Amino acid sequence: MKILVINAGSSSLKYQLFDMENGDVLAKGNCERIGSGGTITHKRPGKENYYAEVDLPSHDDALVLVLDLLVSEEYGVIGSIDEIDAVGHRIAHGGEKYKQSTPIDDDVIAYLETIVPINPLHGPPAIKGMKACRRLMPKTPQVGVFDTSFYSNMEDFRTIYPIPYEYYTDYKIRRYGFHGTSHRYVSAKAAEVLGKPIEELKIITCHLGNGSSITAVNGGVAIDTSMGFTPQEGVPMGTRSGSIDPTVIPYIMKLKNFTPEQIEDLLNRESGLLGVSGVSNDNRNVAKAAAEGNYRAGLAIKILVNSIKKLIGSYVAELNGIDALVFTAGIGENDSSLRSNVCAGMDFFGIKIDEDANSNAPSGKNVNISAKDALVQTLVIPTDEEYMIALDTAKFC
Ligand code: ADP
Repeated sequence: MKILVINAGSSSLKYQLFDMENGDVLAKGNCERIGSGGTITHKRPGKENYYAEVDLPSHDDALVLVLDLLVSEEYGVIGSIDEIDAVGHRIAHGGEKYKQSTPIDDDVIAYLETIVPINPLHGPPAIKGMKACRRLMPKTPQVGVFDTSFYSNMEDFRTIYPIPYEYYTDYKIRRYGFHGTSHRYVSAKAAEVLGKPIEELKIITCHLGNGSSITAVNGGVAIDTSMGFTPQEGVPMGTRSGSIDPTVIPYIMKLKNFTPEQIEDLLNRESGLLGVSGVSNDNRNVAKAAAEGNYRAGLAIKILVNSIKKLIGSYVAELNGIDALVFTAGIGENDSSLRSNVCAGMDFFGIKIDEDANSNAPSGKNVNISAKDALVQTLVIPTDEEYMIALDTAKFC
């Protein structure tokens, strides 16, 4: 069985084609600058990459190009588009309706259109990607996999903001949580690595990348998470502030005479690691500058570490202790120094890592970095959201 996974952004369209017999990626790539030019990078394992600058006015054009490449004599991996059994779409927001992955039909698209006001950045491109696929592959089942659905069992006292209740009932302003597909994948993988049923485990998963979130998982069910109404809440990120005193926002707006768009830009694109360090949004550059003695870079990392620690502490309290702590995504998988700083001084919780195992953890592998006498198993688990989407999609074939 072959599953194509599509992740459509505002000016990009990422894809991966999986052979589900063995989980192999047959081809993957990315169309970028859709609507303002266009490029494609197409990769096949063990073969030379293909890169081209092409005119891509729309997501439809990008998808036509991807499908052409997948079957092309020179760069293709399948004989015909009919070999694709289903398409899985990564959808950031499923609103309150989609509590699990769902086959896409007119009703799904119509509902997703109604929630564009609460998902203005990711909603429209995802809808374009789904419409393009349905048009170009009308007989192939399409499945939506929602980042928010892992959080659909979160209790109301964890999702409702303490503001007048009507803002929830009238405008659906509440906490939804994001990155659910990644947290779902790594928590299930952690149970597999530990050789225990997930139903018996309490796990905190830390997805730390350009965007970062932390989730408390009890018996395979996400009970709390750091991202809220948007992927802005929680820990500081590459360019996002994460949680701050909300009053700072109107204060800056008045001070600088900012529009809502300008303050959004400040909090989304100019804050986080970039804003504090003034060096970069990329953790590697900030860590390097910090090691060279740059005060603001060091401060940015300390703020990040402290914020992660505070969330872990609060989730340990909510879960009444944990069995496993998981690090994943670009920073979580690769930055042993950040992992060490986060775990330092948490032996009260049973979290204690083996510094050698941590600093020598091979990239791209599931690794247990716990000290022998630790009560909590600390694991590094590479995330694979696309494969999780493919697995969900395959269930509908
Ligand atoms: P995205 O959220 O865009 O998927 P990633 O999960 O790829 O992002 O994470 C990107 C982040 O991971 C960047 O801040 C990058 O600096 C960081 N990162 C990647 N490799 C390393 C490394 N070896 N050491 C430290 N940080 C790393």
